[in-house]
Amino acid sequence: LATAAQCDVAIVGGGAAGLMCAIDAGRRGRRVEILEHNREIGRKILISGGGRCNFTNLHCRPENFLSENRHFARSALARSTPRDFLAMVEQHGIRWHEKTAGQLFCDGSARAIVRMLEEECAAAGVRIRTGVRIAEVARGERFRIVLDGDALESRALVIAAGGLSIPKIGASDFGYRVARQFGLKVVEPRPALVPLVFGEEDGTRLADLAGVSCEAAVTAGGAVFHEKMLFTHRGLSGPAVLQASTYWRPGEAVEIDLVPGIDLAGELQRRKAAGDRAETRTALAERLPRRLADRWFELHGPSRPVRQMADREIERLAAGLHRWRFVPAGTEGFGKAEVTAGGVDTAELSSQTMESRRVPGLYFVGEVVDVTGQLGGFNFQWAWASGAAAGRAA
Ligand SMILES: Cc1cc2nc3c(=O)[nH]c(=O)nc-3n(C[C@H](O)[C@H](O)[C@H](O)COP(=O)(O)OP(=O)(O)OC[C@H]3O[C@@H](n4cnc5c(N)ncnc54)[C@H](O)[C@@H]3O)c2cc1C
Repeated sequence: LATAAQCDVAIVGGGAAGLMCAIDAGRRGRRVEILEHNREIGRKILISGGGRCNFTNLHCRPENFLSENRHFARSALARSTPRDFLAMVEQHGIRWHEKTAGQLFCDGSARAIVRMLEEECAAAGVRIRTGVRIAEVARGERFRIVLDGDALESRALVIAAGGLSIPKIGASDFGYRVARQFGLKVVEPRPALVPLVFGEEDGTRLADLAGVSCEAAVTAGGAVFHEKMLFTHRGLSGPAVLQASTYWRPGEAVEIDLVPGIDLAGELQRRKAAGDRAETRTALAERLPRRLADRWFELHGPSRPVRQMADREIERLAAGLHRWRFVPAGTEGFGKAEVTAGGVDTAELSSQTMESRRVPGLYFVGEVVDVTGQLGGFNFQWAWASGAAAGRAA
């Protein structure tokens, strides 16, 4: 065997979680090497938040995450808070603003976040290698990582290789493969924060509504999200649907309240009692985008003046709009998913350190773990927090 370079902590993946882990381990005096297969680090950070990186959320709570073990994320999140990350952002003079509901974005380009992490890595003595190909990982006394042309040996190995979303910027199944190689269970990865796709029938009825957006309360898998929803050529998107997609399972229905927070039946009854001559669809267009209101009547029967509507018809109309059930044919897949749900089973890991219970020295951090944040900066907060947890221990 050729002699291999030595380090204390080898980290696979120079994304959000890997960089944060490196900073914490490096500050503790560990010799740290990051192995990144892209030519540059942090590509996902660069495209995040529409190029401005929604880097955290001030209202981050364990309830904002989905995992088979809903308590797993608690410890790491408690020890690395949004304020801690914000302190680093401010130290680097990066200007930021709160958009809505605690979502923090850069005023300028997301590149500032990558530059900050790179500078912190340099200050902590971390070596970053880009464009590397990992052929094999093995474990003897130490971990041995075989690269194209050379090898690296380390005492600890941190897998921060992310999930499967957006393969065209470097996502790979590396993390899951390493987990399985070492006998760790993986919760089947699935696209999340992803648009949902119409079945054939809904497609013919609704595809030309593409571009229509409205407030909606979207329920899937017991979770409900009241935000904007958007019709696309292929299905539904917008924050409410992206959020619900994380909780949706194939074959299940999604229930959508198209007029949330309104007593539509009561409203129409009052207008009827007042002798309203307006067409019901015109009345509805005060509550829904016109194109959607028109399509609803094309599909569910003719519109008549409000004052001629039977009570039963009003009830049926309101119930239909408050509880529109839609069975997606699927999602837009990993090519469009903002995140990957599922991943390395948390039962395999210490919630304090992210270290494998079976394989001492092997750590998993960030999106590769079965912890998935909701939309709004939570996935980065998980990456920072889990990365730091491992960085303090490895
Ligand atoms: C379009 C988009 C926008 C987003 N916007 C936001 C947002 O605004 N706020 C938010 O909180 N979250 C956002 N996310 C989610 C967030 O980017 C991820 O959850 C987060 O980056 C996960 O961090 P990570 O370090 O675990 O994985 P990643 O950031 O994906 O990093 C993994 C790294 O590992 C590398 N890698 C993979 N395989 C190998 C291998 N075999 N060898 C070497 N290196 C490898 C990859 O190239 C990558 O650099 C967004 C995601 C997308 C796709």
